[in-house]
Amino acid sequence: MESYYIVNDPNDPLAARATEIRKQDYLFWKEVKPDLEDDFDISCHTLATRTGLSERRTRDITMALYRLAELPLTRALQETYYFLDFSRLITIDAVLSKLGDVPTETLERIDQELASYLTPTSPRQVLPSNTNLRRKLNGLIAVETPTPEEEKEATPQKDPYFTYSSFGGKAGLAVEFDEATLIAIDEHVSQAAEKHNLTKADALAKLILGDIEQRVKVVLHMYRAYDQKAAPGFIQGFGWVSPETADGIRPTQKRDMDLARELESESYVTPPLIGAFVEGRDGVCRWPGCHRPAESCQKDHRIDHAKGGKTAGSNLASLCQHHHNIKTDGGAFYIMDPHTGDIVWLFDDGHWEYDEPQGPLAPKNKNWALTVGQAIAARRAAAKERNDS
Ligand SMILES: [Zn+2]
Repeated sequence: MESYYIVNDPNDPLAARATEIRKQDYLFWKEVKPDLEDDFDISCHTLATRTGLSERRTRDITMALYRLAELPLTRALQETYYFLDFSRLITIDAVLSKLGDVPTETLERIDQELASYLTPTSPRQVLPSNTNLRRKLNGLIAVETPTPEEEKEATPQKDPYFTYSSFGGKAGLAVEFDEATLIAIDEHVSQAAEKHNLTKADALAKLILGDIEQRVKVVLHMYRAYDQKAAPGFIQGFGWVSPETADGIRPTQKRDMDLARELESESYVTPPLIGAFVEGRDGVCRWPGCHRPAESCQKDHRIDHAKGGKTAGSNLASLCQHHHNIKTDGGAFYIMDPHTGDIVWLFDDGHWEYDEPQGPLAPKNKNWALTVGQAIAARRAAAKERNDS
């Protein structure tokens, strides 16, 4: 069967109309976008007043189109299917902007991965949500961080700690750390917030001012291939990190996910090892398009435990409370490929949707991490050879 996104279903008149609107919108802006050499601000202003959009939106759309021009494979997909609306195109530009000026081969690498992520591989797939697209892109750029030597040259000696006044008697604080430090701080703050029922901002203030104490041990869950020299890591609650950051996090306990994948348990409650596999495979709630992280989802027995359904990766899927309720109420049910974790959702009205797992253990992401790890190891070896000679 042909692979396609539901937004491009040729037999669905509603989807076809929406695609036509996206296409016209895209072609319109492609035609009228200002040249970057023109007086850019005035051009955006004029376009904004003539289209009724804000200047900010006009600028974002323009920059998104220039960004897409740097990503020929992704652009070719868009100009075949017209499946990406401007929200998603702007997300692509916004995330890639964090990279600053990068060599062409970096953009080529990202373009290749992005195009492969956006290419449907099954019929009736649900288009990745804006949030999941942003997470994917953040993962792609996380492993493109500069090597330590380049970083040293680029880092100014300024203290990256800023305070600023905001609106209505509020003031803000912005600080920058290396990734590993930030992950540890964030985990401490999150735990304190949960324990004392505070917002994370309040928890941070109270921790620093000594109003509350936090002496618990922070537990980080990282997925990483240990049989590889330079594998990126995936930290639960944070996302993909570079091999350098992953190296900086020393595990106190290692668990084998290949083993966990095959495990079965008699108990109804999911044992931690099987749970870690399911969360690592799913990444997010398996309701198509939902982006609730798997670690805050429930583990649904596809076939009820009472009816002989196993407590094992092949019979468990992450569903957030809301979508678990919908499934329990009988409005929809699913079947799952036990090897890939792919899910087909079947709805009461007879239509069906295809959902692929998004976590670091999902087949596609495992392959990506493997390729990235090999590329980074090769780059390091080449740099070492240059230094040695
Ligand atoms: Zn959900």
